[in-house]
Amino acid sequence: MDDIEIPESHPRYESLLTRHRIEAGVEAGITSRQGLIAQGRGEAYDYLLGEETIPSADDAARAAAAHLLAADHAVLSVNGNVAALVPGEIVDLAAATGADIEVNLFNRTDERMRAIVEHLQDHGAEDVKGLTADGRIPGLDHERAKVDADGIGAADVVLVPLEDGDRAEALAEMGKTELVIDLNPLSRSAQAATVPIVDNIIRAVPNVTAHARELADASDAELAQIRDDFDAEAALEAAEDRIRSGGD
Ligand code: ATP
Repeated sequence: MDDIEIPESHPRYESLLTRHRIEAGVEAGITSRQGLIAQGRGEAYDYLLGEETIPSADDAARAAAAHLLAADHAVLSVNGNVAALVPGEIVDLAAATGADIEVNLFNRTDERMRAIVEHLQDHGAEDVKGLTADGRIPGLDHERAKVDADGIGAADVVLVPLEDGDRAEALAEMGKTELVIDLNPLSRSAQAATVPIVDNIIRAVPNVTAHARELADASDAELAQIRDDFDAEAALEAAEDRIRSGGD
């Protein structure tokens, strides 16, 4: 999955690179064809947000870093789009926060699970969960409910980027602290999140990692303050305002 040659000066460099990565993900059996549609939806919102990390999304990334650092057991959930777009960045975030990585698919097939686990390992991941699938998220049908009992099943904090709304809601109902990355502030996933990061995953994951590195020596009290100060509803409103006003 080598990146094609796109000159960095191209005005739509990031967008073209992203498309290419998703396309290559589909070809490699990592991303489902439905992932192409999800990417298209995301791109439209990114365009309206100005293709940049807005201040409220940066605050959310900092709050997410504080949650991950303070967690007893944090898990980063990886689906086919996440694996295609930010495999190395997810491995860096896991290293910066001590979180586990778990592959968790809406359209689960053994083949795709294995392809994603291998892809993450190629990017430096050591232990990737998800293949055991001995736990269940209550309230979802069998295939969509599968998780590892000692992974997402036992986690107190879960990062679920680009998640389907039903599963995001079901995870939140389990009492987990849910950190969501989703460009659509109106999606059910973003609405269900303790911390919704309304930003492109390409920018958001490295940004959470940068905040986590900066907060590595923060005290428990400082981390708690950052978590408490974050207002999810205000962050969603700020993103929606930005989309509606086009940055005015
Ligand atoms: P809902 O949560 O409202 O039920 P959905 O489950 O139908 O939405 P999908 O079509 O599965 O959502 O798409 C997943 C979400 O991921 C969309 O809201 C889309 O905006 C978002 N998304 C897609 N690509 C990216 C990206 N690169 N970065 C961040 N978010 C993205």
